[in-house]
Parts: sequence; structure tokens; C-alpha cells
Amino acid sequence: MAKAKEPERPERPLTGKQAAFVAEYLIDMSATQAAIRAGYSTRTAAAIGAENLTKPQIASAIQAAQAKRAERLEITADALVRQNWELANADPNELIQFRRVCCRHCYGINFEYQFTHAEMTRAFRIWEAKQTKNSKEVFDRQGGEGFDRRKPPRDDCPECNGMGDGEVFLHDTRNLSPAARLLYAGVKQTKDGIEIKMHSQQDARSEVAKLLGFYKEKESSVDPAEVARQVREEMRKMDEADGLDQAA
Ligand SMILES: [Zn+2]
Repeated sequence: MAKAKEPERPERPLTGKQAAFVAEYLIDMSATQAAIRAGYSTRTAAAIGAENLTKPQIASAIQAAQAKRAERLEITADALVRQNWELANADPNELIQFRRVCCRHCYGINFEYQFTHAEMTRAFRIWEAKQTKNSKEVFDRQGGEGFDRRKPPRDDCPECNGMGDGEVFLHDTRNLSPAARLLYAGVKQTKDGIEIKMHSQQDARSEVAKLLGFYKEKESSVDPAEVARQVREEMRKMDEADGLDQAA
């Protein structure tokens, strides 16, 4: 009596074998092969596979898994767009800079040659060693000390006239921003020095355009967004086919 009043539960939990069938079916969408791999006998696999697909709890488990899969594909496509966009907009100056820095005279006293502290000490010792008791010469400090090559050139410097010295500066690649990290493609020691390699920002821009469907790409290359769309279309067709089977 009580049993009859209880509302019919639309879905029973899957048995272990049914769950295995669902997992296997998602691999190649072959009901027969999935039944065999799930442990049903080869002789009855075709019949059981087809029957399994019509069971509501199995059908809905497959549908749920397929929906999740489609979602994952979309997320992957989104992530690819974001990543390529970041790479396309990364600033190469974060990796390598050509910059013009002050010359030795820009910040020297009276625009004379400026030393670093260590250079000044060394120059003084060399001078000192040459002195005799009768020397009347005074050590020439020239532009003084405190040279710092990070400072910008001075326009009023009579030596460089604001041009300074050209310098190539490579950043420490361990501390890059996420965008610069995407751009960085490694370092190569060549006979002419160090070469910083970068991924192509032009390619990244094209990739974004492709992923967003700005232009139709060649069939040979893979477009995750298009793949996701096709997968959803296939699933829709399968759902329709399932509906027809059940109605028949
Ligand atoms: Zn200068």
C-alpha cells in the first residue's frame, strides 16, 4: 500500500556495471563496444548496449557527462583566447630593453669624468703609489664619485649633449609578469652574446582572431571554439536520435 503511494523516482542510481558502461560509452559512443568493455558478455553486448541507452538513469548520466564535456571545451577555448590575447599585448620591454643612460660626464662635477666609489679609490691608490716625498701634486678627483649608470642622460651635458650611452638591458626572467612570462621563450647563448627568444605576438593576434571567428580559417588547423560548437551540434543530433529510438 505504502509502496503504491510513493511517487515514482525518475532515476535510480547506476549499478557499478552501468556506471562503467556510461564511462566507456563516452569514449567512443559505441554502445556495443562500451557494453563489452563494461564487462557484459560479447554475445549479448549489442542488445544490452542498445537497451542500456534507453534506460532513463543511464541516458541522463550520459547527457550530464556530455554537457560537462562541452562546458570544458568551451572553457578551454576561452582560456586559449585569454592567453593569446595576453601574449599579444605583452610588452617586450619587460624582457629586454635598449635604453640610453647617462654618460660618465652627465653628472660629474663641472661635467668632468665621474667615478664610482671603487674606481675613485683605485685611482687614488695608483696616484698615491707614484708620489715621492717632494711631490707637490694634488690628486685630481675630476668629476668626483657617485657614477650611477641607471640615471638618464642630461641635455646640458657638453660631452654627450643628452644622447648618453646606448645600453642593452636584460631583465631577470624569474620575476616576470604573467603576460611577459607568456612572451618569454627562453634564452640562447650565441657566439655574439645572449639571445632572448620570444613567442610571436603576431601569431597570437591571428590566433585570437581565429578563435573569435573573425575570419574563416583553413580546415587543416584546429580551432577549439569550432570544435566545441561541432561537439554540441553532434550531441544535439544524438539526443534527437535517442528521442526517436525511444519513441519507436
Ligand atoms: Zn653626458
